[in-house]
Amino acid sequence: FPSRLPQVGTTIFTTMSALAQEHRAVNLGQGFPDFGCDPRLLQAVTAAMQAGHNQYAPMPGTPALRQAVSDKMHALYGRRYDAGSEITVTAGATQGILTAILACTQPGDEVIVLDPCYDSYVPNIALAGATAVRVPLTPGSFAPDFAKIAAALTSRTRLIVINTPHNPSATVWSDAQMRQLEELLAPTNVLLLSDEVYEHMVFDGQQHQSAARFPGLAERAFIVSSFGKTYHVTGWKVGTVAAPAALTAEFRKVHQFNVFSVNTPMQAALADYMRDPAPYLELPAFYQRKRDLFLQGLQATRLRPLPTRGTYFQCVDISGVTGMNEADFCRWLVQDIGVAAIPLSAFYGDGFDQQVVRFCFAKEDATLLAALERLKKL
Ligand code: PMP
Ligand code: GLN
Repeated sequence: FPSRLPQVGTTIFTTMSALAQEHRAVNLGQGFPDFGCDPRLLQAVTAAMQAGHNQYAPMPGTPALRQAVSDKMHALYGRRYDAGSEITVTAGATQGILTAILACTQPGDEVIVLDPCYDSYVPNIALAGATAVRVPLTPGSFAPDFAKIAAALTSRTRLIVINTPHNPSATVWSDAQMRQLEELLAPTNVLLLSDEVYEHMVFDGQQHQSAARFPGLAERAFIVSSFGKTYHVTGWKVGTVAAPAALTAEFRKVHQFNVFSVNTPMQAALADYMRDPAPYLELPAFYQRKRDLFLQGLQATRLRPLPTRGTYFQCVDISGVTGMNEADFCRWLVQDIGVAAIPLSAFYGDGFDQQVVRFCFAKEDATLLAALERLKKL
């Protein structure tokens, strides 16, 4: 039968993690922590299971977790999302993104994505039967190019997808950039999908500029978050989507026939654990220290680091080491040097190669040091 996604193979993250295992490499490829989460969170799960939270959760998520997310967004971003009608718990950000795209686009609609972008957006748009319009971020700085975005807007544009802090470039949108987007979209009825899964990983005293802070963006936005990133539990696959009630109503029509609801004990545990803001407030310092440790070690190599303003990714320019393209370099690096990385070309529609690869530093210090020992050989 005809493929729904003829151009799509296995994701680069799956491929690289498999190669890392095969070659017993230090895996700085796929983004996930190699350390445990807070034991209090594990105790909260056990307690939730023992208390009998083991049947279907309500379709949009447990009221306690939605209220906790509403309170947090209000405290951090100054906008009150109604827990009943404006927040939905999803099976990770991945399901939230797909569901939002399916809910608001039709065949014939155009969806703007900014290249390079996270690998699920474009296949999700294809599954909705809509057309992805790839607009490049500025080469070198990865800043949004508003003239190019404006030029890409047509009467068929239904949605634009943004991601800050940004995977893979580790850049963070400024207040001024968010305002520019707000101004650009003001005369249109284009919707916004704001992927904010790295909202708590912003460094050097910056603030995360959530779309929730900007009324002209928030009124048209699906805002996507992920507990996996924030609490070091990527395997739990729990996230949320916040959006105005009318958008949420459409979102839930798809959600209810997509997963119906998300696992109950994790939601109970997360609601309980979220009462303490310390874990997410401490996250920037926690990851900034790891970024700096890794950066310092990179100085002893011939890899040239790009700035990391947010996320748990460090990009490096490999041109001082090799003339190889990124994909070949990553294959060689995992096989011969024993370190897994991700080529940035995997995040571009046309496989654009700029000799930059991405390392994940959400790792034990010992893991980072072991990788650096090997990278010194380059
Ligand atoms: N968006 C971005 C930008 C990501 O990096 C990730 C995680 N790799 C996701 C979405 C998916 O998040 P989750 O694991 O919660 O599905
Ligand atoms: N978001 C993770 C990354 O960018 C990978 C998640 C996945 O494997 N799909 O590395």
